[in-house]
Amino acid sequence: MYPFLHQFALFLHSNGIQREKVTHVKLHQSESRHCTILSQSTEKVAFKEITSLQQDLHMESKPATKPTDDPLLPLDDKSYIFDIYGKTDSSLTSYINSICTTQETVSTPKSETKQREIRKIVDNGDQSNRIDVVFMGDGYTSEEKDQFFDDMDRLTQDMFNDVTFRSYLPVFNIWAIFEPSVESGIGYNGAKNTPFRLYRAAGQLRGIYTGNAAYARQICALTGASGCDYPSLIGNDDFYGGLGGEFVISTKSERTGTVVLRHEMGHNFVNVGEEYDGGSVYRGVNSASSLATVGWSHWVTDELREENSIIRIQDYRWEDLSVEDQYFNFTSDGTYNRWYLHVSVSAAGEADCLEFTLDGEILPWTSSGYDDREFYDWYGFEGLSAGPHSVMVRSKTDPTHPFIPRMICAVRLHEFGTESEFEMDNAHVSAYPTWDNQGRLTYRPTNAGCLMRNMTHRNFCEVCQEGMWHQFFMRIGIIDNLTIAEEMDPTMTRKVTVHTLGLGQLRDPEDVVDGEHLEIRWFYENMEYSGLRDQFTIDARVGNWRVDVKLITPEVRSDPEGLLEDSQTFIV
Ligand SMILES: [Zn+2]
Repeated sequence: MYPFLHQFALFLHSNGIQREKVTHVKLHQSESRHCTILSQSTEKVAFKEITSLQQDLHMESKPATKPTDDPLLPLDDKSYIFDIYGKTDSSLTSYINSICTTQETVSTPKSETKQREIRKIVDNGDQSNRIDVVFMGDGYTSEEKDQFFDDMDRLTQDMFNDVTFRSYLPVFNIWAIFEPSVESGIGYNGAKNTPFRLYRAAGQLRGIYTGNAAYARQICALTGASGCDYPSLIGNDDFYGGLGGEFVISTKSERTGTVVLRHEMGHNFVNVGEEYDGGSVYRGVNSASSLATVGWSHWVTDELREENSIIRIQDYRWEDLSVEDQYFNFTSDGTYNRWYLHVSVSAAGEADCLEFTLDGEILPWTSSGYDDREFYDWYGFEGLSAGPHSVMVRSKTDPTHPFIPRMICAVRLHEFGTESEFEMDNAHVSAYPTWDNQGRLTYRPTNAGCLMRNMTHRNFCEVCQEGMWHQFFMRIGIIDNLTIAEEMDPTMTRKVTVHTLGLGQLRDPEDVVDGEHLEIRWFYENMEYSGLRDQFTIDARVGNWRVDVKLITPEVRSDPEGLLEDSQTFIV
């Protein structure tokens, strides 16, 4: 049905620092193959060679909507997002014609409102050479405009100034677009009268869908060419929920708003699958199908081995506990030494409202005090006996929230070997088994040291982090441009300045990343002037020059394609 879906083609040399100007078209393809061209721009890219079938095209595609940590979430959207990079217009056009029966472009919004306001809340420069994230609020009325910008500042702070994406911040621009809403809040069963029609199904703290993607595309396009790389819809709502894909959808929840955001932005920034159990997509730098194919051996802490563990329960139950108690039965073979139980519940902020048991024994539980979707876990340091076991959860009191049901959302139980067979420490990198929704085994790098596995964790694992740097530098270059002075100095030289991303020594003192450095080397007639090492501005005499800039960072240990390097030639 999508014959080109997993075919990649290429046009660049593999000597690493070679980059090429190409046209990038991003489009939405509906199930009936009607295409909406979302953006078209010129970019300097460096894709590695994967196949030589189509010499001048590179293409990536993904479903337009995807669930977050909940593979069983019902989605009826069968559309796709394509990113197509073409060296020539003719090859781009013929490729697009081959996947689209009809085409349109995103129009400008018909309604002009004085209330609409576009703010660039983080401005790191030229948007054609930055990753642009656009937050659009839904369900914020005119009176809630200040609240909206406060919320977006807080989410940005959480995501980009705190640990998650902090080191990448100089690569980003962050936008916030206020679009006034008639009604406040988002729908809990069908949409309210809001610009992007965000709604939940059945009050569940689970998926949040948009009923007006077309309008969100129009509003996002107001950021201009290359301004809408990663659009995000943020609901004016205090509880967990969202979706990934074309739009990252989340809420302003102080408890869980960034939980969905950073996980789904992570999927967008680095082309990887999940690290949690029970998903359907396991691929990319953080996944290996066998120990022999582990791609992160340069990060492994001690020896590479399969950490000894097994999964006994993975259940996305989403049952209302006011209807009946819920049982999760499983069988152990009695050969493991420790266990770990992880659950999530909603509308259980009331003290002592729930009871959890394992084989009839009450597990100690204290409510966080919040009705949001909250995550709880227990460790057991004695092995389970061979035979049947059961986890039970029941509500001890009547539901307290007017429109959020008290639910058991998901339950997972793992068993582990001894401390010498399974390293629990999240800083430890090895090969940890993960089981998909068919029970198939793959490996991930850390136990729970990555937010691609553990939604409430604030960090990516080292492997995802390195992959993110690689991915960014396929799309953008470290060098923005060069300026060469018009005037010749009396010494017959011209001032030349290289302008780069604000990494390494260009970071603000309070944002310094230890060990990060931009290495700058100037070459005259192919010979390096080592005395000019790490100078951003030089006096260059007449002749042929080249400048190489390389990012040195402890977050990247392997860069075989030289993606963290950029180079430009010039003549004085
Ligand atoms: Zn990871």
